[in-house]
Amino acid sequence: PIRVRFAPSPTGPLHIGGVRTALFNYLFAKKHGGVFYLRVEDTDQNRFVPGAEAYILEALEWLGIAPDETVGKNEKFGPYRQSERKHLYKEYADQLVQSGWAYYAFDTAEDLDQLRKNEEEQGKTFIYNHGNREQLDNSLTNSAEKTAQRIANGEEYVIRFKTPVNEILHLNDMIRGEVKFDTNLLDDKVLFKGDGMPTYHLANIVDDHLMETSHVIRGEEWLPSLPLHVLLYRAFNWEAPEFAHLPLILKPVGNGKLSKRDGDKLGFPVFPLEWKDPSSGEISSGYREKGFLPEAVINFLALLGWSSGTDQELFTLDELITAFDLERVHKAGAKFDPDKNKWFNHQYIQRADNNDLAQQLSHVLLEKGINKPIEFLTEVVRLVKERATFASELWEVSEFFFLAPASYDEKAAKNWKPETAELMEKLISVLENTLDFSTENVENTVKAWMAENEIGMGKIMQPLRLSLVGSLKGPHLFDIMSMIGKEETIARIRKAVD
Ligand code: GLU
Repeated sequence: PIRVRFAPSPTGPLHIGGVRTALFNYLFAKKHGGVFYLRVEDTDQNRFVPGAEAYILEALEWLGIAPDETVGKNEKFGPYRQSERKHLYKEYADQLVQSGWAYYAFDTAEDLDQLRKNEEEQGKTFIYNHGNREQLDNSLTNSAEKTAQRIANGEEYVIRFKTPVNEILHLNDMIRGEVKFDTNLLDDKVLFKGDGMPTYHLANIVDDHLMETSHVIRGEEWLPSLPLHVLLYRAFNWEAPEFAHLPLILKPVGNGKLSKRDGDKLGFPVFPLEWKDPSSGEISSGYREKGFLPEAVINFLALLGWSSGTDQELFTLDELITAFDLERVHKAGAKFDPDKNKWFNHQYIQRADNNDLAQQLSHVLLEKGINKPIEFLTEVVRLVKERATFASELWEVSEFFFLAPASYDEKAAKNWKPETAELMEKLISVLENTLDFSTENVENTVKAWMAENEIGMGKIMQPLRLSLVGSLKGPHLFDIMSMIGKEETIARIRKAVD
């Protein structure tokens, strides 16, 4: 059975790259009728940030890609928080020591710093591995009795992995194909720390195994850890899952990984939800609060590093599930395009239910003390939403349906010619005699009058728009007239004439 996981460390808000990782896991699981679970990797207590875990779950829920199993939900392989699995890991570390795949090391941080410095002075990089582990202070250079004694004395230690020597690993990545690693260049990574906590590497492998993970789909930044992870599976004699490393998300301009600073500079969020940093109080904007629709964010993220192989760009979540395939995930990094991001939202606003959008608009109106029936607002939404990228812009593009212009756009006012006032007076008489004020009838009546009197379109339409809207923007003019009604239409024209 397919079981995939999203395994964030709750060290802060979920970055958009993390959301993309969660999404690809979700899509892969759903496509294959499998399970998508979320495991909280909170073993590094120094980097723990309160609120981050709840934030991550809330974000996935808002986006519609909540995990099937996680803390407090279908805890089939629980607990799903590594800090609550703490008791489990030591036994596995010990198992590796016993089988000769790991060893105790007593070197102090100062000792190691000194060694690193010495090597660097000679132009070398210090790697703690077969090249020097036989000289350093660990259970390979101490007798078994002495090691046991030192541990019993409460001396500080870590447990390190004993990386095999002289081996080229040929590993498979579902996206990259074969990737090779030379074991001689790998560190003997710490698996277990003196504070009684496992490191990421040990906890991650033990849990992926115990929680029966079939595929590990994660960001490219974890590719360098792949050889160690595969070796750990070998050491435990466990079957390893399949691995897929997703391409990086790159800055919109320049090179390198997308960062929060890029978002700040160009005015787009890099977090799904607004986040208030608990220590600094600093607030970072979120897609939700900026007025993005979750469907639009999902669609946009799905195409960051994956393509369907067709021209189709708009996908519902269900369509994504059907179309998704790890084989079509790109190897190269995916450039983040903030304009495309907005384009998707505009597309989804067009597809959103007018009645829902009208509800949102009604909140804005209420704040301004304007009360209109929801049917009226739904019609307004239908007429203007083409001009809105965000639901929050609906007021801005529909204001004239509710309020007469308070001023006239200066540039547009140039369309008001010496003869305009007289023409507008004549138009007012025509409108006064128009009983049926439906869009169609007003349009026919006004156009017939213009034709009869040989008045050019430009002479009427632009000054009329200016009178009703205050500028030259807005939807079909006769729709506006019909919506605001005869009295208001005439009043606005009269005000412009005066
Ligand atoms: N806890 C790791 C992270 O924060 C998980 C990496 C992995 O998926 O193996 O990204």
